[in-house]
Amino acid sequence: MKTKILLNENQLPSQWYNIIPDLPGPMAPVINPRTLKPVTPDDLLTIFPMSLIEQEVSQKRWIDIPDEVRDIYRLWRPTPMYRAHRLEQALGTPARIYYKYEGVSPAGSHKPNSAIPQAWYNKQAGIRRLATETGAGQWGSSLALACSMLEMECTVYMVKVSCTQKPYRKSLMEMWGANVIPSPSDRTGAGRSILAKEPDSPGSLGIAISEAVEDAATREDTNYALGSVLNHVCLHQTVIGQEAIEQMKLVGDYPDVVIACCGGGSNFAGLSFPFLADRAAGRNVRCLAVEPASCPTLTKGIYAFDYGDTAQMAPIAMMYTLGHDFVPPGIHAGGLRYHGESPLVSQLYKAGEIEARSYKQNTCFEAAILFSRHEGIVPAPEASHAVRAAIDEALQAKEEGKEKTILFGLSGHGQLDMGAYDAFLSGQLEDYEYPEENIRKSLGNLPKVEI
Ligand SMILES: *Cc1c(COP(=O)(O)O)cnc(C)c1O
Repeated sequence: MKTKILLNENQLPSQWYNIIPDLPGPMAPVINPRTLKPVTPDDLLTIFPMSLIEQEVSQKRWIDIPDEVRDIYRLWRPTPMYRAHRLEQALGTPARIYYKYEGVSPAGSHKPNSAIPQAWYNKQAGIRRLATETGAGQWGSSLALACSMLEMECTVYMVKVSCTQKPYRKSLMEMWGANVIPSPSDRTGAGRSILAKEPDSPGSLGIAISEAVEDAATREDTNYALGSVLNHVCLHQTVIGQEAIEQMKLVGDYPDVVIACCGGGSNFAGLSFPFLADRAAGRNVRCLAVEPASCPTLTKGIYAFDYGDTAQMAPIAMMYTLGHDFVPPGIHAGGLRYHGESPLVSQLYKAGEIEARSYKQNTCFEAAILFSRHEGIVPAPEASHAVRAAIDEALQAKEEGKEKTILFGLSGHGQLDMGAYDAFLSGQLEDYEYPEENIRKSLGNLPKVEI
């Protein structure tokens, strides 16, 4: 009975799976926030390279992974899959539980899977510097890693409160050579206008995005990179699910349910999209996206056109949203606090091809601690949402006395998130009620797009 299910380096996928041609219906257009007309490639060329803009709308089902990107992936890919024998035993469940572990990447999460190719395509286009934002620091550190591997400069606007709350992620970015700027800063017009009104502003992801986009738009040698939500980010993450399918074959099993946590959606997309291709071909598999109850985008949001950012500078997309000015409570799963959702994941949810569920944070931390006591790995607070759902599926199988195969994505480790575990272990972690009132207010400010 295997515990670690491993692939050889030569089984690293050579292509990414693009779900766009297999979607249930055409994609809605993406809208320019200034003209309220569909965006043109030219609108995006000031901050993205043409190759990535093409991937946003490509109708090709399989897209080759460049050799140099595969060489860098090889530093940690293929990632391991584990059979959670010890957790199964502790739960007394007849279910078989597997998890695909992305915490073995140098940055400790799935995010480098897209950071590396994004940096590579930008370098090919003659760009020598990338600007981005980061909240908790997972994306910033992944892009810092990518830029260091590809000898590019990297500037990260980091939400000011996170710089003090997560000092080690800042150190990690600086170790990999990035320039980390607490946001709001005096480097950009967006930052200066916030500081003029509120000199002690703690910052927000929305403000940091505005600063990074302005930086990229005003410098010829600089582009912008986003860590989730966009179609090309979901595309790059599909190495996860492709490897998982091969790993399940090695043990002669196949999941009844595939579970992943969902912030902007790229992690869920990465694991589930290759399985959804099987589903489209007639295979019986459920895919379940798990989100925090305090930021319940799929489970409580509406499917509508909305801005990608608070400052209304980013394109407008058709997606599940809580409203672009919705500010979720300060939960510890910082990577799951985005107001919107990947348009691809949103369209699949709308069509009933995937399921969604939400949990409060204390029950997720309980699940993470149970998991770590039997399996050892400390899950990232984001990933603890998937752990909770996997355990609940296993307990349901026990109640029904049914065999079931469960696969979940362990998207990262939590060794730089011990402050959150401290808060939980000392009983100081708050559960936030679903902030219905704030969401209703925020949903009143959606843009009026007529197409
Ligand atoms: C960022 C992050 C997530 C959320 O990823 P999305 O692709 O935006 O849904 C999940 N887990 C970990 C460990 C992360 O760092």
